[in-house]
Amino acid sequence: MDLRLHDGVPMPRLGFGVYKVSDEDAVPAVSTALAAGYRLVDTARLYGNEHGVGAAVRASGLAREDVFVTTKLWNDAHGTGAARAAFEASVERLGLGAPDLYLIHWPCPSRGLYVQTWRELLRLRDEGRVRSVGVSNFQIAHLEQILDDSGQAPTVNQVELHPYLQQRELRAFHAEHGIVTQAWSPLGRGTVLRDPVITAIAARHGVSSAQVVLRWHLDLGHGVIPKSVTPARIRENLDLADVVLDADDHARIAGLDRGQRTGSDPDEVA
Ligand code: NAD
Repeated sequence: MDLRLHDGVPMPRLGFGVYKVSDEDAVPAVSTALAAGYRLVDTARLYGNEHGVGAAVRASGLAREDVFVTTKLWNDAHGTGAARAAFEASVERLGLGAPDLYLIHWPCPSRGLYVQTWRELLRLRDEGRVRSVGVSNFQIAHLEQILDDSGQAPTVNQVELHPYLQQRELRAFHAEHGIVTQAWSPLGRGTVLRDPVITAIAARHGVSSAQVVLRWHLDLGHGVIPKSVTPARIRENLDLADVVLDADDHARIAGLDRGQRTGSDPDEVA
């Protein structure tokens, strides 16, 4: 079942991420994911594979409205005119018409332009150029700034989130403001899959560690975008219908939080 964004746009809960997948490799990887049943693809200007993602979606035989495509504005394109030009270039590379979701990739507070950039994204949405607009890697202070200025909350904040970095305070802020949390590196880039708590839960239920972690995310109510280029794993990560965690499993995973990032601190990214 889809998540409903605060602007009414439905967004699949589980999507396919393509960070560090080349433009060439994106075509078979996204094709495998769409054939397996994924209906959300998460790309970005930074990933250099918008062209391959668009080609795979076009070749899939699926109706355009049945695939949710997210892309993101890179850090060098903050500011009114630069943001618009970056958006148009992404649309051109994707070749899919209006993207479903456009995100500011990082707030880059040292540039001091994310408020202005957010206003431009709202204009693009009002012009019907994109269905929904949101942010990524925004901390509470950055969200407060754009809310104060525009009075409009992003529909989504895509942030690093996995059992070692559970982001409780940020998730509570999102809930208060109707912002959907979407977890990037939901598997902690593979690190959490070797955790003895996770492997023990997986063994008890006869499922994989990745399935335990992805079910945990879905039970918390947010979106996830795991990445793999291995067809069997691509399918495994979507095959969660029979994975059921109990209260004890949840309590044990809750205990794994250690505030540990695999990626950058959003306040420090320029
Ligand atoms: P992830 O947590 O999804 O981990 C991916 C890695 O886990 C894979 O490379 C593989 O080694 C392993 N893996 C995946 N499925 C597995 C399985 N079933 N069994 C065993 N191992 C498995 O990490 P990620 O790729 O960093 O994040 C996912 C997506 O999030 C990215 O592709 C991208 O779309 C997005 N992302 C966004 C940002 C951002 O700043 N907004 C940053 C990083 C990633």
